[in-house]
Amino acid sequence: MDIGRDILLWASRNEWMKNSIPNYPFVKKAMKRFMPGEKIEDALREAQKFNELGIGTVFTHLGENLKNLHEAEEVTFHYIEALKKIETAQTPTEISIKLTQLGFDLSVDQTMSNFEKILNQAKDKNNFVWIDIEQSSYVDATLQFYKRFKKLSSNVGLCLQSYLIRTKNDLIDLLDLSPNIRLVKGAYKEPHHIAFKEKSKVDENYFELSKLLLEAVKSKNCRAAFATHDLRLISMIEAFGKANGFQREQLEFQMLYGIKTSEQIKLAKEGYKILVLISYGSSWYPWYMRRLAERPANVGFVLKNLFTN
Ligand SMILES: Cc1cc2nc3c(=O)[nH]c(=O)nc-3n(C[C@H](O)[C@H](O)[C@H](O)COP(=O)(O)OP(=O)(O)OC[C@H]3O[C@@H](n4cnc5c(N)ncnc54)[C@H](O)[C@@H]3O)c2cc1C
Repeated sequence: MDIGRDILLWASRNEWMKNSIPNYPFVKKAMKRFMPGEKIEDALREAQKFNELGIGTVFTHLGENLKNLHEAEEVTFHYIEALKKIETAQTPTEISIKLTQLGFDLSVDQTMSNFEKILNQAKDKNNFVWIDIEQSSYVDATLQFYKRFKKLSSNVGLCLQSYLIRTKNDLIDLLDLSPNIRLVKGAYKEPHHIAFKEKSKVDENYFELSKLLLEAVKSKNCRAAFATHDLRLISMIEAFGKANGFQREQLEFQMLYGIKTSEQIKLAKEGYKILVLISYGSSWYPWYMRRLAERPANVGFVLKNLFTN
Protein backbone atom coordinates (compact mmCIF):
# COMPACT_ATOMS: atom_id res chain seq x y z
CA MET A 1 0.00 0.00 0.00
CA ASP A 2 1.30 3.47 -0.88
CA ILE A 3 0.51 5.43 2.30
CA GLY A 4 1.67 8.81 0.93
CA ARG A 5 -0.60 8.45 -2.12
CA ASP A 6 -3.54 7.27 0.00
CA ILE A 7 -3.23 10.23 2.39
CA LEU A 8 -3.04 12.72 -0.46
CA LEU A 9 -6.06 11.19 -2.21
CA TRP A 10 -7.97 11.27 1.09
CA ALA A 11 -6.96 14.94 1.51
CA SER A 12 -8.22 15.66 -2.01
CA ARG A 13 -11.74 14.71 -0.87
CA ASN A 14 -11.68 16.25 2.61
CA GLU A 15 -14.16 19.15 2.85
CA TRP A 16 -12.38 21.09 5.61
CA MET A 17 -9.04 20.93 3.78
CA LYS A 18 -10.75 21.85 0.50
CA ASN A 19 -11.97 25.08 2.09
CA SER A 20 -8.86 26.09 4.00
CA ILE A 21 -5.69 24.84 2.26
CA PRO A 22 -6.06 26.83 -1.01
CA ASN A 23 -5.97 30.07 1.02
CA TYR A 24 -2.37 29.63 2.15
CA PRO A 25 -0.10 31.82 -0.02
CA PHE A 26 2.68 29.19 -0.16
CA VAL A 27 0.20 26.61 -1.51
CA LYS A 28 -1.03 29.09 -4.15
CA LYS A 29 2.56 29.70 -5.14
CA ALA A 30 3.31 25.98 -5.43
CA MET A 31 0.13 25.50 -7.47
CA LYS A 32 1.69 27.68 -10.19
CA ARG A 33 3.99 24.81 -11.06
CA PHE A 34 1.03 22.83 -12.43
CA MET A 35 -1.18 25.60 -13.82
CA PRO A 36 -0.37 29.00 -15.30
CA GLY A 37 -3.23 30.76 -13.51
CA GLU A 38 -6.92 30.71 -12.71
CA LYS A 39 -8.18 32.51 -15.85
CA ILE A 40 -8.54 31.24 -19.42
CA GLU A 41 -6.39 34.19 -20.51
CA ASP A 42 -3.52 32.68 -18.47
CA ALA A 43 -3.98 29.39 -20.31
CA LEU A 44 -4.18 31.11 -23.72
CA ARG A 45 -0.93 32.96 -23.04
CA GLU A 46 0.83 29.65 -22.36
CA ALA A 47 -0.86 27.96 -25.34
CA GLN A 48 0.67 30.62 -27.56
CA LYS A 49 4.15 29.81 -26.23
CA PHE A 50 3.64 26.08 -26.74
CA ASN A 51 2.35 26.73 -30.25
CA GLU A 52 5.62 28.47 -31.10
CA LEU A 53 7.41 25.26 -30.05
CA GLY A 54 5.20 23.11 -32.29
CA ILE A 55 3.18 21.82 -29.32
CA GLY A 56 -0.62 21.81 -29.22
CA THR A 57 -2.70 22.24 -26.08
CA VAL A 58 -5.88 21.00 -24.42
CA PHE A 59 -7.76 23.23 -21.97
CA THR A 60 -9.73 22.07 -18.98
CA HIS A 61 -11.60 24.31 -16.59
CA LEU A 62 -11.32 22.98 -13.05
CA GLY A 63 -14.48 22.76 -11.00
CA GLU A 64 -15.92 21.29 -7.82
CA ASN A 65 -18.92 18.99 -7.44
CA LEU A 66 -21.97 20.89 -8.62
CA LYS A 67 -24.75 21.90 -6.26
CA ASN A 68 -27.39 22.55 -8.92
CA LEU A 69 -28.01 22.49 -12.66
CA HIS A 70 -27.69 26.23 -12.93
CA GLU A 71 -23.96 25.78 -12.17
CA ALA A 72 -23.78 23.18 -14.96
CA GLU A 73 -25.22 25.75 -17.37
CA GLU A 74 -22.55 28.20 -16.30
CA VAL A 75 -19.84 25.62 -17.05
CA THR A 76 -21.46 24.95 -20.44
CA PHE A 77 -21.48 28.65 -21.21
CA HIS A 78 -17.85 28.89 -20.12
CA TYR A 79 -16.73 26.19 -22.59
CA ILE A 80 -18.79 27.69 -25.44
CA GLU A 81 -17.07 31.02 -24.83
CA ALA A 82 -13.70 29.28 -24.43
CA LEU A 83 -14.07 27.78 -27.91
CA LYS A 84 -14.67 31.27 -29.32
CA LYS A 85 -11.60 32.64 -27.50
CA ILE A 86 -9.48 29.76 -28.77
CA GLU A 87 -10.59 30.50 -32.32
CA THR A 88 -9.68 34.17 -31.90
CA ALA A 89 -6.27 33.28 -30.42
CA GLN A 90 -5.63 30.93 -33.35
CA THR A 91 -3.87 28.36 -31.20
CA PRO A 92 -4.22 24.61 -31.85
CA THR A 93 -6.13 24.08 -28.61
CA GLU A 94 -8.76 21.42 -27.90
CA ILE A 95 -10.91 21.15 -24.78
CA SER A 96 -11.40 18.41 -22.20
CA ILE A 97 -14.47 18.16 -19.99
CA LYS A 98 -15.57 16.26 -16.90
CA LEU A 99 -19.20 15.16 -17.31
CA THR A 100 -19.83 15.79 -13.60
CA GLN A 101 -19.13 19.45 -14.36
CA LEU A 102 -22.02 19.43 -16.82
CA GLY A 103 -24.45 17.97 -14.28
CA PHE A 104 -23.90 14.18 -14.60
CA ASP A 105 -24.74 13.58 -10.90
CA LEU A 106 -27.95 15.58 -11.15
CA SER A 107 -29.50 14.88 -14.55
CA VAL A 108 -28.12 12.79 -17.41
CA ASP A 109 -30.61 14.39 -19.83
CA GLN A 110 -29.46 17.88 -18.90
CA THR A 111 -25.82 16.79 -19.18
CA MET A 112 -26.52 15.52 -22.70
CA SER A 113 -28.16 18.78 -23.66
CA ASN A 114 -25.22 20.78 -22.21
CA PHE A 115 -22.67 18.58 -23.92
CA GLU A 116 -24.47 18.79 -27.23
CA LYS A 117 -24.29 22.59 -27.11
CA ILE A 118 -20.54 22.48 -26.51
CA LEU A 119 -19.99 19.83 -29.18
CA ASN A 120 -22.00 21.83 -31.73
CA GLN A 121 -19.91 24.89 -30.98
CA ALA A 122 -16.74 22.80 -31.34
CA LYS A 123 -17.96 21.45 -34.70
CA ASP A 124 -18.72 24.97 -35.80
CA LYS A 125 -15.20 26.06 -34.84
CA ASN A 126 -13.60 22.93 -36.33
CA ASN A 127 -12.41 21.93 -32.87
CA PHE A 128 -12.38 18.75 -30.80
CA VAL A 129 -13.83 17.82 -27.39
CA TRP A 130 -12.34 15.23 -25.02
CA ILE A 131 -14.42 13.60 -22.29
CA ASP A 132 -12.40 13.00 -19.10
CA ILE A 133 -12.91 9.74 -17.28
CA GLU A 134 -13.61 10.05 -13.56
CA GLN A 135 -14.03 7.53 -10.72
CA SER A 136 -15.03 3.95 -11.60
CA SER A 137 -18.65 4.55 -10.51
CA TYR A 138 -19.04 6.82 -13.56
CA VAL A 139 -17.42 4.53 -16.13
CA ASP A 140 -20.52 2.64 -17.39
CA ALA A 141 -22.56 5.81 -17.80
CA THR A 142 -19.63 7.67 -19.39
CA LEU A 143 -19.14 4.89 -21.95
CA GLN A 144 -22.85 4.99 -22.87
CA PHE A 145 -22.64 8.75 -23.12
CA TYR A 146 -19.59 8.59 -25.37
CA LYS A 147 -21.12 5.96 -27.66
CA ARG A 148 -24.18 8.12 -28.18
CA PHE A 149 -22.18 11.22 -29.13
CA LYS A 150 -19.55 9.41 -31.19
CA LYS A 151 -22.34 8.08 -33.40
CA LEU A 152 -23.43 11.68 -34.01
CA SER A 153 -20.09 13.36 -34.36
CA SER A 154 -16.47 12.51 -35.15
CA ASN A 155 -14.90 15.37 -33.17
CA VAL A 156 -15.27 13.77 -29.76
CA GLY A 157 -12.81 11.65 -27.79
CA LEU A 158 -12.87 9.67 -24.56
CA CYS A 159 -10.25 9.03 -21.90
CA LEU A 160 -9.72 5.42 -20.71
CA GLN A 161 -7.69 4.24 -17.68
CA SER A 162 -5.23 1.34 -17.76
CA TYR A 163 -5.49 0.73 -13.98
CA LEU A 164 -9.02 -0.63 -14.41
CA ILE A 165 -9.17 -4.36 -15.15
CA ARG A 166 -12.28 -3.84 -17.31
CA THR A 167 -10.70 -1.32 -19.71
CA LYS A 168 -9.48 -3.83 -22.30
CA ASN A 169 -13.04 -5.11 -22.78
CA ASP A 170 -14.39 -1.56 -22.82
CA LEU A 171 -11.94 -0.63 -25.54
CA ILE A 172 -12.72 -3.71 -27.64
CA ASP A 173 -16.41 -2.95 -27.26
CA LEU A 174 -15.87 0.60 -28.55
CA LEU A 175 -13.73 -0.29 -31.56
CA ASP A 176 -16.54 -0.57 -34.12
CA LEU A 177 -17.33 3.09 -33.47
CA SER A 178 -13.80 4.16 -34.54
CA PRO A 179 -13.31 5.82 -31.16
CA ASN A 180 -10.87 8.61 -30.41
CA ILE A 181 -9.13 7.48 -27.24
CA ARG A 182 -6.81 9.24 -24.79
CA LEU A 183 -5.14 6.52 -22.75
CA VAL A 184 -4.07 7.27 -19.16
CA LYS A 185 -3.07 5.16 -16.18
CA GLY A 186 -5.79 6.61 -13.91
CA ALA A 187 -5.76 9.18 -11.14
CA TYR A 188 -8.31 8.05 -8.51
CA LYS A 189 -8.29 5.65 -5.60
CA GLU A 190 -10.01 2.45 -6.74
CA PRO A 191 -10.66 -0.83 -4.90
CA HIS A 192 -8.38 -3.73 -5.80
CA HIS A 193 -11.11 -6.04 -7.04
CA ILE A 194 -11.57 -3.71 -10.02
CA ALA A 195 -8.16 -2.06 -10.41
CA PHE A 196 -4.66 -3.50 -10.77
CA LYS A 197 -2.83 -3.29 -7.47
CA GLU A 198 0.77 -3.27 -8.66
CA LYS A 199 2.16 -0.41 -10.71
CA SER A 200 3.92 -2.95 -12.97
CA LYS A 201 0.52 -4.44 -13.92
CA VAL A 202 -0.95 -0.98 -14.63
CA ASP A 203 2.04 -0.27 -16.91
CA GLU A 204 1.84 -3.69 -18.57
CA ASN A 205 -1.85 -3.13 -19.29
CA TYR A 206 -1.09 0.37 -20.58
CA PHE A 207 1.25 -1.07 -23.19
CA GLU A 208 -1.15 -3.84 -24.14
CA LEU A 209 -3.94 -1.27 -24.62
CA SER A 210 -1.54 0.97 -26.58
CA LYS A 211 -0.83 -1.85 -29.03
CA LEU A 212 -4.55 -2.51 -29.45
CA LEU A 213 -5.12 1.18 -30.03
CA LEU A 214 -2.39 1.53 -32.62
CA GLU A 215 -3.77 -1.46 -34.49
CA ALA A 216 -7.18 0.25 -34.38
CA VAL A 217 -5.68 3.49 -35.71
CA LYS A 218 -4.79 1.53 -38.83
CA SER A 219 -7.79 -0.75 -39.18
CA LYS A 220 -10.58 1.46 -37.80
CA ASN A 221 -9.29 4.97 -38.36
CA CYS A 222 -9.29 5.72 -34.63
CA ARG A 223 -7.34 8.55 -33.02
CA ALA A 224 -5.03 7.38 -30.24
CA ALA A 225 -3.43 9.79 -27.76
CA PHE A 226 -1.02 8.35 -25.21
CA ALA A 227 -1.34 10.58 -22.17
CA THR A 228 1.56 9.65 -19.93
CA HIS A 229 4.85 11.02 -18.61
CA ASP A 230 6.27 7.52 -18.35
CA LEU A 231 9.34 7.70 -20.58
CA ARG A 232 9.80 3.92 -20.60
CA LEU A 233 6.28 3.41 -21.94
CA ILE A 234 6.71 6.24 -24.43
CA SER A 235 9.86 4.55 -25.84
CA MET A 236 8.03 1.22 -26.05
CA ILE A 237 5.15 2.86 -27.95
CA GLU A 238 7.60 4.66 -30.24
CA ALA A 239 9.36 1.35 -31.00
CA PHE A 240 6.08 -0.51 -31.58
CA GLY A 241 4.87 2.33 -33.82
CA LYS A 242 8.07 2.32 -35.84
CA ALA A 243 8.02 -1.45 -36.27
CA ASN A 244 4.46 -1.20 -37.55
CA GLY A 245 5.04 1.50 -40.12
CA PHE A 246 3.88 4.58 -38.21
CA GLN A 247 5.53 7.90 -39.00
CA ARG A 248 6.51 9.97 -35.96
CA GLU A 249 3.81 12.59 -36.62
CA GLN A 250 1.21 9.80 -36.48
CA LEU A 251 2.09 9.08 -32.84
CA GLU A 252 0.40 11.41 -30.37
CA PHE A 253 1.52 11.93 -26.78
CA GLN A 254 -0.18 14.15 -24.25
CA MET A 255 1.27 15.40 -20.98
CA LEU A 256 0.25 17.77 -18.21
CA TYR A 257 1.40 21.36 -17.97
CA GLY A 258 4.47 21.66 -15.76
CA ILE A 259 5.43 17.98 -15.85
CA LYS A 260 8.42 16.85 -17.94
CA THR A 261 8.36 20.07 -19.98
CA SER A 262 11.82 19.46 -21.48
CA GLU A 263 10.66 16.03 -22.65
CA GLN A 264 7.58 17.59 -24.26
CA ILE A 265 9.81 19.95 -26.23
CA LYS A 266 12.27 17.18 -27.15
CA LEU A 267 9.53 14.86 -28.45
CA ALA A 268 7.97 17.70 -30.47
CA LYS A 269 11.37 18.50 -32.01
CA GLU A 270 11.79 14.84 -32.92
CA GLY A 271 8.56 15.08 -34.90
CA TYR A 272 5.97 13.45 -32.62
CA LYS A 273 2.55 15.05 -32.12
CA ILE A 274 2.56 16.55 -28.62
CA LEU A 275 -0.32 18.12 -26.74
CA VAL A 276 -0.07 19.65 -23.28
CA LEU A 277 -3.12 19.72 -21.06
CA ILE A 278 -3.48 23.07 -19.32
CA SER A 279 -5.85 23.39 -16.37
CA TYR A 280 -7.16 26.68 -15.08
CA GLY A 281 -9.97 27.88 -12.81
CA SER A 282 -10.34 28.77 -9.17
CA SER A 283 -11.38 25.30 -7.90
CA TRP A 284 -7.99 23.73 -8.22
CA TYR A 285 -7.55 22.07 -4.80
CA PRO A 286 -8.82 18.45 -5.41
CA TRP A 287 -7.16 18.35 -8.81
CA TYR A 288 -3.91 19.68 -7.36
CA MET A 289 -3.92 17.05 -4.59
CA ARG A 290 -4.32 14.29 -7.22
CA ARG A 291 -1.21 15.67 -8.97
CA LEU A 292 0.69 15.50 -5.66
CA ALA A 293 -0.56 11.96 -5.10
CA GLU A 294 0.88 10.89 -8.44
CA ARG A 295 4.28 11.77 -7.08
CA PRO A 296 4.30 12.30 -3.31
CA ALA A 297 7.84 13.76 -3.67
CA ASN A 298 6.05 16.85 -5.03
CA VAL A 299 4.95 17.61 -1.46
CA GLY A 300 8.58 18.60 -0.83
CA PHE A 301 8.17 21.16 -3.59
CA VAL A 302 5.11 22.64 -1.85
CA LEU A 303 6.95 22.81 1.46
CA LYS A 304 9.94 24.49 -0.19
CA ASN A 305 7.60 27.33 -1.15
CA LEU A 306 6.85 27.81 2.53
CA PHE A 307 10.42 28.95 3.07
CA THR A 308 11.17 30.87 -0.13
CA ASN A 309 9.88 34.24 -1.35
C1 LIG B 1 -3.36 14.74 -20.90
C2 LIG B 1 -3.76 13.97 -19.67
C3 LIG B 1 -5.10 13.78 -19.40
C4 LIG B 1 -5.49 13.04 -18.28
N1 LIG B 1 -6.81 12.80 -18.06
C5 LIG B 1 -7.18 11.96 -17.07
C6 LIG B 1 -8.53 11.55 -16.93
O1 LIG B 1 -9.43 11.97 -17.66
N2 LIG B 1 -8.83 10.67 -15.93
C7 LIG B 1 -7.86 10.18 -15.08
O2 LIG B 1 -8.17 9.34 -14.22
N3 LIG B 1 -6.58 10.58 -15.19
C8 LIG B 1 -6.22 11.45 -16.16
N4 LIG B 1 -4.90 11.81 -16.27
C9 LIG B 1 -3.93 11.49 -15.18
C10 LIG B 1 -3.34 10.10 -15.35
O3 LIG B 1 -4.32 9.13 -15.06
C11 LIG B 1 -2.15 9.87 -14.40
O4 LIG B 1 -2.58 10.02 -13.08
C12 LIG B 1 -0.98 10.80 -14.61
O5 LIG B 1 -0.79 11.07 -15.98
C13 LIG B 1 0.33 10.18 -14.04
O6 LIG B 1 0.58 8.95 -14.64
P1 LIG B 1 1.74 8.69 -15.71
O7 LIG B 1 1.15 7.98 -16.87
O8 LIG B 1 2.46 9.94 -16.06
O9 LIG B 1 2.67 7.62 -15.04
P2 LIG B 1 3.43 7.57 -13.64
O10 LIG B 1 4.01 6.22 -13.56
O11 LIG B 1 2.54 8.04 -12.55
O12 LIG B 1 4.56 8.64 -13.85
C14 LIG B 1 5.65 8.47 -14.74
C15 LIG B 1 6.71 9.48 -14.39
O13 LIG B 1 6.21 10.79 -14.72
C16 LIG B 1 6.52 11.73 -13.71
N5 LIG B 1 5.27 12.24 -13.10
C17 LIG B 1 4.03 11.71 -13.20
N6 LIG B 1 3.13 12.47 -12.53
C18 LIG B 1 3.83 13.49 -11.99
C19 LIG B 1 3.50 14.59 -11.18
N7 LIG B 1 2.24 14.82 -10.80
N8 LIG B 1 4.49 15.44 -10.82
C20 LIG B 1 5.77 15.26 -11.21
N9 LIG B 1 6.16 14.22 -11.97
C21 LIG B 1 5.21 13.35 -12.36
C22 LIG B 1 7.39 11.01 -12.71
O14 LIG B 1 8.73 11.19 -13.08
C23 LIG B 1 7.02 9.55 -12.88
O15 LIG B 1 8.04 8.72 -12.51
C24 LIG B 1 -4.49 12.54 -17.38
C25 LIG B 1 -3.14 12.74 -17.68
C26 LIG B 1 -2.76 13.43 -18.80
C27 LIG B 1 -1.31 13.60 -19.09
